Parts: sequence; C-alpha cells; structure tokens
Amino acid sequence: MPKYDAKCDKCGRIFEYTAPIVTAGDPPPPCDKCGNEETKKVFNMNGGGFILKGQGWFKKGGY
Ligand SMILES: [Zn+2]
Repeated sequence: MPKYDAKCDKCGRIFEYTAPIVTAGDPPPPCDKCGNEETKKVFNMNGGGFILKGQGWFKKGGY
C-alpha cells in the first residue's frame, strides 16, 4: 500500500500512515500523538509518486 503523511492541526505532528490506493489516503487517521482527528494529508515522495490531486502549493522542503 502507498504511504502518506498527515499533519495534525493541533500539535503540528507529521506522521506517516498507509492506506489502500482506492481511498487515496482519505480520510487521514487521527493524530497518533494527541488523538486529534483534525489531520490533513500532506504529500511525500515515499509513496512512489501517487499524486492524485492538486495542492501544488505544497513543495518538498518548505511550506
Ligand atoms: Zn496531534
């Protein structure tokens, strides 16, 4: 399964998770640190290039 990164809106933690391709990583799981469910998926390059949607504002190495 491809890997995705999610970022917690509450504590700022970025954590990795895997999800089936059919879900495209949505929705991300709750934060594994504080349990907050308000997490956002962010793209990384570990998933083998599964970029399914826009969000071109996110660039590797910076915000
Ligand atoms: Zn958190």
